[in-house]
Amino acid sequence: MVLGALIGLLVITMAGNDRRVVARERDAVFALLEERAAAVQRSASALLEEGDTIGRAVSGEFAFVHERFGRPLDAHFGYERAYLVDRSSGKPVYASIDGALLNEEEMAAAAPTLRRALRGIGERSMGLIVDDRGVGLAVIVPPLAGAPGLLCIAVDAVDDAFLKEMEQRLQVSGLHVMPAREPSRGGEDGVVLTNLAGDAPLVMSWRTQSAGIGTLTDVAPVIAALSSALLGICLAFLVRAHRSARALAESEARASSLAYRDNLTGLSNRGRFISLLEQRLAAMKNQDALALLFLDLDDFKDINDTLGHVVGDELLCEIARRLEAAVGEAGNAGRFGGDEFVAFIAAPAAAALDAHVARVTGAVHAPVLVDGRELMVGASVGVAYAPRHAATARDLMRRADIALYRAKAEGRGSFAAFEPPMEVETLHRRKVEQELAEAILHDQLTLLYQPLVDVESERILGFEALVRWDHPEHGRLLPEAFIPVAERSRLISRLDSWVLRAACEAGRTLPDVTLSVNMSAINLRDPDLSERVLAVLEETGFDPARLEIEITESALFTAEGPGRETLVRLRDVGIRIALDDFGTGHASLVHIRSVPVTKIKIDRSFILNLGIERDAAAIVEYVIRLGRSLGIILTAEGVETREQLRFLRAFGAQQAQGYLFSPPVPIETARRFLDEQRVAVPAQGANRRLPERTDTASASDKEPAGTS
Ligand code: C2E
Ligand code: CA
Ligand code: CA
Repeated sequence: MVLGALIGLLVITMAGNDRRVVARERDAVFALLEERAAAVQRSASALLEEGDTIGRAVSGEFAFVHERFGRPLDAHFGYERAYLVDRSSGKPVYASIDGALLNEEEMAAAAPTLRRALRGIGERSMGLIVDDRGVGLAVIVPPLAGAPGLLCIAVDAVDDAFLKEMEQRLQVSGLHVMPAREPSRGGEDGVVLTNLAGDAPLVMSWRTQSAGIGTLTDVAPVIAALSSALLGICLAFLVRAHRSARALAESEARASSLAYRDNLTGLSNRGRFISLLEQRLAAMKNQDALALLFLDLDDFKDINDTLGHVVGDELLCEIARRLEAAVGEAGNAGRFGGDEFVAFIAAPAAAALDAHVARVTGAVHAPVLVDGRELMVGASVGVAYAPRHAATARDLMRRADIALYRAKAEGRGSFAAFEPPMEVETLHRRKVEQELAEAILHDQLTLLYQPLVDVESERILGFEALVRWDHPEHGRLLPEAFIPVAERSRLISRLDSWVLRAACEAGRTLPDVTLSVNMSAINLRDPDLSERVLAVLEETGFDPARLEIEITESALFTAEGPGRETLVRLRDVGIRIALDDFGTGHASLVHIRSVPVTKIKIDRSFILNLGIERDAAAIVEYVIRLGRSLGIILTAEGVETREQLRFLRAFGAQQAQGYLFSPPVPIETARRFLDEQRVAVPAQGANRRLPERTDTASASDKEPAGTS
């Protein structure tokens, strides 16, 4: 009797514990899924709101919609599926998978999955879908203004990486997705997410932390058998139940706090930070003010690459500690991933904020001692104020982000506060980015070729490929109008790859000469760069020994580690490396020994002043002399006059490039130059010019650059 009552009590206590743990775990899973879904929604909305994408969708221009929406959603954000569904018929009118536009037939095949998903998605605006591509988290994008008849669904693949990340953040194991009809294994819990394939709902399931009932069933027979030791065992059970309840409570607390905190630093994660910010904004009274700071560590990638991830992680934790201390009770600090930190500070009056903002910024700028070494880290900081700049968390974040962008553009360690004109600029930049992405895709770029000539003979040794953009509205654009935009987005690597390929293809029709291609320094960070270059050479059949890659001087000296290795690998297959714009950065010839450079291009600004400023001549002469002694070829850029050329000859520069010889010209003209050079009568003297410009041409049969 007593035994029965005791066991009954135990079962009830432990089952209660289990239910609570399970409920917490479920909440945490939903919270994470919702956070993920919100990120998908934000990205998709941002793309759809840009330009008139929604309007074009309504008028059925799906190729346009694809360029602006489906393709970038996959390429830039990594969400590989996007659908627009007609609300009345439930049929997809537009679908994109892996960045490819689906045709009618393929869309018809996707229709049943979508219909089932829609039925099951319900209030949460998200659910799991499954088809032959696997499982995905389907998210309904908030109603499209101006297109009430259309529903937008974006899908993020629930793959191994997705599940791993959730497991880590939830501190659970064995997370997987299965049909709900399948019996769940012992000790597992799950959340049912949506209807699909017939009536079987999908379940996201994991091994639960609760263990009470299981333990009891294991031990129950023993209790019965040892009824003589009844009291002792009961007591032992009571103690154990208490302990297990405590352990469970702890793990619960950990699981739910981890769902809202950044794993590494313990700062708020995105979801928690935004919700705290929203709460604080909602609670603001008359004179209250709030500052939202976006901070991005300078050169963190380089620190990580050169000193390793352990040091990188330590650095992030130290910055997090400082940030948290500097913000104090007045707000909250968070990390949005990588080296992106955020913080908000509230104060009873706007005037009180400035000093606090300066303290937070200062905390990040002080040197950090990691692993026995002192690292000088800086951060770019963008800040926006409420209510002055925005009243909602979303708008405020957008504006702080815009300010951060400005700060980064101004260089390392910069601080920028939001100003309304920045928003206009940002919109303009996004527009240029989008148009440029299309231009690369649709071959609206053109290459011109500017000859590099031998200083002595004035014969053409090679050409530099210079890119132009034939813009449908604005006509032909020079690189200065779009290269900086490309460099600040991921477009630059696509642009430079396009140029490389186009130049190598064209280069085969320019026999015997070298071809120089500009490569933005940002590309050096890409560990696959050398493979990419080699692949293009292979595909186009262009001889590596005829290719020269021009990199700006400043790039080389930030190119420690991986960047340097890339250059060495390229040089080892015979590609030449030229240092562009020499003299404008902080490279000195002493450093050049340690980098794999075969040529230096002396910047135009020095050549311009030859014969005008005494210093210019001295510098050019010095560079040329030292370069020669190191066995490096010297090219002078921007040679416009005979007088400049005379100086260069006297100093012993080997190559020159500039309007004196020819501006950049189309490929046909470049080819004609070479043809004319080949048939020209050999001539002597100082008046030898490029064939098309003057009477005579030189015929000294010098090898292309690199042999002197
Ligand atoms: P850069 O590599 O220094 O290229 C030389 C620039 O000087 C070219 O301008 C050329 O037209 C101009 N130039 C040549 N001779 C003379 C001269 O005698 N006098 C004067 N005043 N200018 C001369 P462009 O084509 O506007 O290119 C500007 C810059 O854009 C280039 O400077 C290069 O840094 C960048 N760029 C051009 N094409 C590409 C590309 O395909 N990829 C990348 N990443 N950057 C490129
Ligand atoms: Ca160049
Ligand atoms: Ca240059």
